[in-house]
Amino acid sequence: MHHAPDQLTLGDVTVTRVKEYYGPAGLTPGQFFPDSPDGAWQEHRDWLAPDFWDPGTDQCRTAIQTWLLRSEGRTILVDTGVGNHKDRPYAPVWHRLDTEYLDNLAAAGVRPEDVDLVVNTHLHIDHVGWNTRLEGREWVPTFPNATYLVPRPDFEFWDPANGHRSVLGEGNRNVFEDSVAPVHRAGQVRLWDGGHRIDRNLRLDPAPGHTPGSSVLTLDSDGERALFVGDLVHTPLQLAEPDTNSCFCEDPAQSRATRHRLLGEAAERHALLFPAHFGGSGAVEVARRGPGFAVEEWAGFPRIS
Ligand SMILES: [Zn+2]
Repeated sequence: MHHAPDQLTLGDVTVTRVKEYYGPAGLTPGQFFPDSPDGAWQEHRDWLAPDFWDPGTDQCRTAIQTWLLRSEGRTILVDTGVGNHKDRPYAPVWHRLDTEYLDNLAAAGVRPEDVDLVVNTHLHIDHVGWNTRLEGREWVPTFPNATYLVPRPDFEFWDPANGHRSVLGEGNRNVFEDSVAPVHRAGQVRLWDGGHRIDRNLRLDPAPGHTPGSSVLTLDSDGERALFVGDLVHTPLQLAEPDTNSCFCEDPAQSRATRHRLLGEAAERHALLFPAHFGGSGAVEVARRGPGFAVEEWAGFPRIS
């Protein structure tokens, strides 16, 4: 594994961290993870604070970031954050953001027209935002030349026309309409189901529970492995306590089962784990410890600030 600032090389693939936001999640541990065991946060305080939890304000700290992959000559974005100017009346932390995300992407050497593939691990508010940008009064695809890979179970679940009830409820209001439908209308969405091979190094598979279509992107290249797991875990506490769900998990039992399965796979195959929202060094190698998992080693990314 070689390091450059904010970039790792894994086999024939480079992985770059592109920040949209780092700071308070607007939720305390008790709100965000209501089923975390009593005392667990205090027990693990010495390594959760300050990167993942601010005990002073009792706020969880979260990163919104894109994992930028370059593989076989193509430029690939894994998750697209919250986006700018989006009306999010039920999610005040994400309401009408105005961040420098596109400048951060440019600093990583990527103009919007350079992006070949966008992967939305699932269709929550904080994973699809930069799919589109505001042009006049219209939401248009931010990445005009990209194919957007979208898991079909989430596309069907979150389409308001289908009338599904969700745990997230109003928290995902407007998201399908302003960040998914415009890309679909432009003919840039490819719906996948069951599994999808991107290239020799990268593959998408279902990882349901957090949402029906939640997915995992597996990197396997020249003996190096990584799992891009979206919201399988939101905080490293869930490594030590893999039964702990976020309050946003649509199917709690399935979410726990998928978390145990994929963390086990990461530990056994020495795959670097890339969750969507870890602050600190962002990615982590895990090992089994007792009924859960422990941090074996953090990835070589600088701590986010
Ligand atoms: Zn998320």
